[in-house]
Amino acid sequence: MLGFFKKVAAQVSGKTPNWEEIEAELIQADFGAKFAIHFVENLKEQQSFWSGNDAISATRQEIKKLLHNSTSRSLQKPMHVIVLVGVNGVGKTTSAAKLAQYYQQKGNRIRLVAGDTFRAAAIEQLKLWGEKIGVPVTAGNYGGDSAALAFSGYQEAQKEGANILIIDTAGRQHTKANLMQELAKLIRVLKKAAPDAPHETLLVIDAATGSNALNQAREFQKHVPLSGVIATKMDGAGTGGSLVGIASECQLQPLWMGVGEKAEDFLPFDVERYLEKILGS
Ligand code: GDP
Repeated sequence: MLGFFKKVAAQVSGKTPNWEEIEAELIQADFGAKFAIHFVENLKEQQSFWSGNDAISATRQEIKKLLHNSTSRSLQKPMHVIVLVGVNGVGKTTSAAKLAQYYQQKGNRIRLVAGDTFRAAAIEQLKLWGEKIGVPVTAGNYGGDSAALAFSGYQEAQKEGANILIIDTAGRQHTKANLMQELAKLIRVLKKAAPDAPHETLLVIDAATGSNALNQAREFQKHVPLSGVIATKMDGAGTGGSLVGIASECQLQPLWMGVGEKAEDFLPFDVERYLEKILGS
């Protein structure tokens, strides 16, 4: 990403910049058209005294206007219900476990639901995570009804006095319509257990996937009300630019970031850390 900004910086200091090219580059870096157009308009206005470094610090300012540090979430009582959604492979199951451990360490009592019933490995994976971090997991059979499972998970959590329920869901892409219907059903059924649930529906995206992440956000948002984003693989080589696109085009803030494969590689979204990744320090 830094290489890309060096290019933009070189464009603005020196010869007359090719604005269209800069706009195209920003869109290509997954910042989304809305941000790119707005940003280039700003650059044009201030062009006379601009150097390459100014271009980078302006980018910082613009991103800081859009993305904010994640503050501590207020938890609903008696039970705060969080549903994780997203396509396969983005890190949903891992993030469910990471989130469980994060909240557990803050003194909460958690239960996990292995709602990705379309991937036998996901059920096993969450059970293993549960054992490792000491959090009980409600799990059913491969191919089972995830809505019914979520409902039982809620009841079990209630019985044992847990105050946070975290539900993993399926993410297979080949039958998108079914996936969305199933998510809608899971949410309907959860409301039978608690009318105000879920209190958060978090979209998990792989920060390395680029513009596809923006499309995923648009698609899920059409079908389920989303509260924010968990950006995984922020430790990887990907650009992470899509977080800007998703915030500016879908009004969804990144709330958490995954920075590795271990349970503790997880933290509330931190703008400075993000900027360092995409722009360098
Ligand atoms: P799911 O299909 O969305 O449930 O994805 P998984 O949770 O199974 O994760 C897919 C792969 O991504 C696994 O190998 C995880 O260890 C890995 N993964 C998840 N989150 C992160 C992260 O923040 N950083 C890195 N490096 N790998 C991650």
